[in-house]
Amino acid sequence: MPKHIVSGLKYLATIELKKKGLTQQKIADELEIDRSTVSHYLNGRNISFHCINVAETMTQLSSKDFLILTHSLFKNAEITQKIISICQSKVFKAEVLDTCIGCGLCVDLCLMQAINLEYLKANINSIKCCGCLLCQEGCPTNSIKVLEV
Ligand code: SF4
Ligand code: SF4
Repeated sequence: MPKHIVSGLKYLATIELKKKGLTQQKIADELEIDRSTVSHYLNGRNISFHCINVAETMTQLSSKDFLILTHSLFKNAEITQKIISICQSKVFKAEVLDTCIGCGLCVDLCLMQAINLEYLKANINSIKCCGCLLCQEGCPTNSIKVLEV
């Protein structure tokens, strides 16, 4: 795994969580890193501008590219979801139309685990949705609409 990009993303996430008022220990727990690493990040130590620049470039990619690249770097769904949720500022609203046949394909496609099946119909938690459109593009009945709000 290209460690410099992973470090850059964790640095950006650390800064965002600090802005939300989390303690260093809570940030460390959330991002699965040492508290001393959080301290280094917050004090600008042990992190290069290059790492930060690459990570910032990633956050400016399309939602789909940011998600897929992050997932390929971390190879862990849970930490990927955290990094995307923390570092992406856009908000999306997802809707499932009545034409949904409950095939479940979108559930498997969603790396953010924002979709489940309820009464044989897809249900999307918009709070978890990062707007990657993988579900919308993959749905065989065009039953998903995702919009940035
Ligand atoms: S992929 Fe489309 S049809 Fe299948 S469950 Fe999801 S929304 Fe419904
Ligand atoms: S757009 Fe679809 S696949 Fe992507 S995060 Fe939102 S619900 Fe999941």
